[in-house]
Parts: sequence; structure tokens; C-alpha cells
Amino acid sequence: MRGFSTNAIHAGQEPDPHTGAVITPIHASSTFAQDGVGGLRAGYEYSRSANPTRTALQECLAALEGGRHAVAFGSGMGASDVLLRVLLKPGDHLVIPHDAYGGTFRLVDKVLTQWGVEYTPVDLADVDALRAAVRPTTRAVWCETPTNPLLGIADIAAVADVARTAGARLVVDNTFASPYLQQPLALGADVVLHSTTKYVGGHSDVVGGALVTSDDELAEALRFTQNSVGSVPGPFDAWLTLRGAKTLAVRMERHSDNAERVAELLAGHPAVGRVFYPGRPEHPGHEVAAKQMRRFGGMVSFTVAGGREAALRVCAATEIFTLAESLGGVESLIEHPAAMTHASVAGSALEVPDDLVRLSVGIEDVEDLVDDLRQALAAAAG
Ligand SMILES: *Cc1c(COP(=O)(O)O)cnc(C)c1O
Repeated sequence: MRGFSTNAIHAGQEPDPHTGAVITPIHASSTFAQDGVGGLRAGYEYSRSANPTRTALQECLAALEGGRHAVAFGSGMGASDVLLRVLLKPGDHLVIPHDAYGGTFRLVDKVLTQWGVEYTPVDLADVDALRAAVRPTTRAVWCETPTNPLLGIADIAAVADVARTAGARLVVDNTFASPYLQQPLALGADVVLHSTTKYVGGHSDVVGGALVTSDDELAEALRFTQNSVGSVPGPFDAWLTLRGAKTLAVRMERHSDNAERVAELLAGHPAVGRVFYPGRPEHPGHEVAAKQMRRFGGMVSFTVAGGREAALRVCAATEIFTLAESLGGVESLIEHPAAMTHASVAGSALEVPDDLVRLSVGIEDVEDLVDDLRQALAAAAG
């Protein structure tokens, strides 16, 4: 079996048989010529159903997650929507993480509940809490690890055990780790979800999502529902994502190096309260993370000792860290989850602390990142 980076660069990406183009072409065509009615040349008919650039991306992503099938989407939420509609019917029950990605929570809480789906938020770091939450009607357990924005860690193999016993499918949102750092299918997950907008794309220039599974029937159902509802990525988006994926391994190594240094600075800084980074030995999920992840990734959150106002001042004072939502790009970003990415969970069980700051640590020179945070913390302290 080939290694991760060889797959990232070559899986699904043979040189073009007609021209020899080394790089997969952007097949900007909505429709494909047929040799007689129904005589499809390479299985392509209409680009909502399938497009060759998208196929290349899907084959690459399947190889990276160690799955048999991948389905690429126009966004992570598009992928989540199709997956949940395939897994759940009215009356079914779903378990979600108690600090799920805000958009996932909104989709479940505001949209799916209109169709009679019930859900329970659970701290998935606590397997007993999960065992207590599953019901006879539980059809799916939705797991994120590390979680967003608190970097909580769930033991994927242990969660998979409980889900299997309950007769529920396990979904792992692997966006924060990326397939380079963590491979949930090998740990017992039924489906892996990615917002490829983040680390897989890696350059903050494209929105996309993907589902990966080794279950043939499930893959067929996902393709059928995607084709029915139409949440597909365009060929340009698929191409950008594929280009980004080629460098995923080297980027994740550098993200991890830089985040470790940043977490170390924060942990020793008097203006900082708690630091949330699974690579720190004092993190409650450190041992589980060390067992199931190659390294600990580029996301670091922390509370600011001066409270909400001081946290907002830190976000306003950085010069290299750009104040923006999203994550996983080469450039460093800073944000205030309670007012930005997680505004949709305010007042719910998933509310996040208002003195929390989240960093997406990029791959710039780490000394510059550390200096920038030092000056921002000093400025915020007044
Ligand atoms: C961004 C994100 C999503 C949603 O993906 P989009 O591409 O924005 O639709 C889902 N899960 C996690 C963990 C995310 O960070």
C-alpha cells in the first residue's frame, strides 16, 4: 500500500490519457456527448450526477481516509445535510457532541427537528454519558474530535463500540484533525465527514465538503440523495481542493510544530487563563489524542484572564493573526467564538465561554507568530 503523501499527489490523478497533462484538467462542462442514446463514453452524463474533476478528488479523498468511497460536496454543511437525511427518518434519535460545530448544531436543532428528528447533546469524552444517552431509536452518533472550539477529545474506538452495540452508525467529523493526523474509519467509524474548506483545501480559497465510507450500500444512498438534492461542488472548486490536498502532510506537520510552540507560550503567559490544546500533557484528552492522532494539529483555544472585553481586545490587537472565521489555511487566524463562529449556539446547552479566543495557527515563521501574540496580549492587558 502506498504512503499518505504518494496518495495525496497521485490517487485519482493519472496523467490525462488524451493529452498527457500531468495535472487533472478542470472539466468545465455541464453535459457530456453520448455515442448513441445512452452510450456514455466514460460513465459521464451530466455534471450534477458526476464530473471527472470531482471523480479525481473523490478517489484521492477515499485513499487519504483509507475508505472505499468518497463523495465530494459543495460545502461541509451540504455533506452533513445529505448524510443526516440518509441516516435518519422522522422519529429517529441522534446523539451530537455537546460542543458540536455551530453549523452542525443549527442544522440539527433548527432544520432536522422540523422533520421529527430528536437529538441529545452529549460530552463524548465521557463514554458512560453516551451509553446513558442512546435510545432504541438512536440511529446515529455524531462525533467530532478534536471539537470546535474547545478541542475536546473523544476516544473514537470506544465511541464506536457503544454506537455498534446500540445499532447506530458512527459519523466522525474529522475536519480539525485532517486525514493525515487521524483516520477514523480504521478506528471503527462508519462515515468520515470533512469540511474540505479547512485543512484539506488548506488555502482559504474554496468551500467544500466530503463524506468517506467503506460501506457500499451507504455510499450508494449518499450518491443517490446528493444527486436528488444537488449539493455538488463545481469542477473549479473540486480542482482547487485537489491541489490543496497534495501538500496536506507537510502542511499538517508545520501546523502542528507551530501550534505546539504557540500553546507553550500561552500556557506560561500571565494574561492567559486556560489553554485548550490536546498536545499539552495537562489536557484531559491528551492520552487518548496521543493514541489516535499522529500529532495534535493547528488549532489552539485559550481564555483571557481579563474576561470578555480583554478577549475582544486580543482579537483586535494581532497583526499577523487575521481576525476572521474559518480555519485550516496556511495563514494564521484569530477569532472570538462566542460572538463569531458560535453565535448560533448562544443560550443553548452548547454555549461557549465569552472569554475564549480561538486560533487557527498557520504555517508562517513561528517566531513571528509568537511575537505577534505576545504584543497582542500585552496590548490587551493595557
Ligand atoms: C467548517 C466546519 C464545518 C462546516 O463546513 P462548511 O464547509 O463551512 O460548510 C463542519 N464541521 C467543522 C468541524 C467545521 O469546522
